[in-house]
Amino acid sequence: MTVTTADILICGGGIAGIAAAYHLTVRQGVPRVLLVDERPLLSLTSDKSTEAYRNWWPGPDAAMRRLMNRSIDLLEELARASHNRFLLSRRGYVYATADPQRAAGMKAAALSATDMGDVRLHEPDGGAPLSACPYIPAAAEGFTGQPDGVDLLLDPALIRRHFSYLSPQTIAILHARRCGWFSGQQLGMYLWEQARQHGAELLPGRVTAVQLAQGRVARVTVQQESRAVDVNTAIFINAAGPLVNEVAALLGLELPIFHERHRKVSFRDHLGILPRHAPLLIWEDAQRLPWNQEEQEWLADSADTRWLLEPFPGGVHTRPEGSSDGQTILLLWAYHTAPATPIFPLPADPLFPELTLRGLSTMIPGLAAYFEQMPRPYVDGGYYTKTRENRLLSCPLPVPGAYVLGALSGYGLMAALAAAELLAAHIVGAALPDYAPAFDLRRYQDVAYLQEIAGWAGSLQL
Ligand SMILES: Cc1cc2nc3c(=O)[nH]c(=O)nc-3n(C[C@H](O)[C@H](O)[C@H](O)COP(=O)(O)OP(=O)(O)OC[C@H]3O[C@@H](n4cnc5c(N)ncnc54)[C@H](O)[C@@H]3O)c2cc1C
Repeated sequence: MTVTTADILICGGGIAGIAAAYHLTVRQGVPRVLLVDERPLLSLTSDKSTEAYRNWWPGPDAAMRRLMNRSIDLLEELARASHNRFLLSRRGYVYATADPQRAAGMKAAALSATDMGDVRLHEPDGGAPLSACPYIPAAAEGFTGQPDGVDLLLDPALIRRHFSYLSPQTIAILHARRCGWFSGQQLGMYLWEQARQHGAELLPGRVTAVQLAQGRVARVTVQQESRAVDVNTAIFINAAGPLVNEVAALLGLELPIFHERHRKVSFRDHLGILPRHAPLLIWEDAQRLPWNQEEQEWLADSADTRWLLEPFPGGVHTRPEGSSDGQTILLLWAYHTAPATPIFPLPADPLFPELTLRGLSTMIPGLAAYFEQMPRPYVDGGYYTKTRENRLLSCPLPVPGAYVLGALSGYGLMAALAAAELLAAHIVGAALPDYAPAFDLRRYQDVAYLQEIAGWAGSLQL
């Protein structure tokens, strides 16, 4: 048995644990931070992400908007400091619809989105423009000099001019502007390098026990292949991603979270159907998949395949991946989001590439060219670990000295910097931001809060 010491031990080297190590060492000056992971850094969930970010969180959750805007402030600050090493872009998120009711909903959401920047309404002649500003398409590279807020395009001619590759049925486009994507791997490596330069160290292995002394965290056991290491430490951070409850159990705790499976497929768009400068594109409408007559009859024939003729939910989305001369595109669609127990590797869904391609062709009809022969797809994915109202956890745990940074759901890469900053403030006793209570486990003890979130519709999660 080897024994060592640390000021703080972080369990989990995904984006959450790495961002915590960065804030604690670089920004708070904690000298000895130990990061423990049984896998290579960032390899369980954090490298499966679409790597997109947005400050567009319409609805009642103002705390989420504040947290996310703070996180994007930090992303931009680090992008500037690192000569944009992690390729932060700002092409925006484009939500498209062919449904008049949804278009009206988009308009209402845009008009109420006053804390997300300016709102620019682009209506056909005769509409009263909210702003005299013309619609400015996003730049393909970089993140500076771009509009803020949101553009709502309701003018069919304008939609056709800028989004000719979208379905001619499209009647409204909401383009949220403080959004885009970046390399999560590069961001993670940049943060980890900075943390290491400020004293952080990696201890490969699995956290198997947390011992208390006088009711406080005192010692953590890390099991390596051939030996166990005992780490004397007063502070333990649970940043174990989808395994956050397995690690919480080492402290006798159970966190109020659940998991959803989310997959992503990529393939080479060798016909160049999706322009390389495209933003992230989301089709908002529920739909029935496009099958020809013969296929429909064949699918209707068996109870096993009949569900493929039923309506599928909205939210299928895509973006180009890589450089302007690349061909890879990413496709995602969470058409099954029932809670699931994490199993690794993720169980296969052989139909996922074809169903997602067909669903996406409703928004981008040119993709139907791949129905006969889809380019070889690559599928990966992981688990969204979520709380019931889809707000993450960044707070102390009921055991003194123990903390959690988890339940980062489908927005962990974009939220990690602000969530970890908040956690570091809890740990070192710095002033907490006003949104801190919204991400604290103790919120669930507040009956008024429970009643409030019960009325929130959906999680607005892709
Ligand atoms: C398909 C998909 C698309 C996504 N798209 C986006 C997106 O566009 N934008 C966005 O912001 N987010 C996105 N996300 C979400 C994002 O990827 C996650 O929120 C984030 O990666 C979670 O990071 P984490 O550090 O909490 O967990 P993880 O990355 O899973 O890291 C947890 C780590 O803890 C380690 N660990 C667990 N238990 C132990 C133990 N006992 N001992 C030692 N180590 C342990 C694991 O080995 C793992 O490395 C997406 C997720 C998926 C699945």
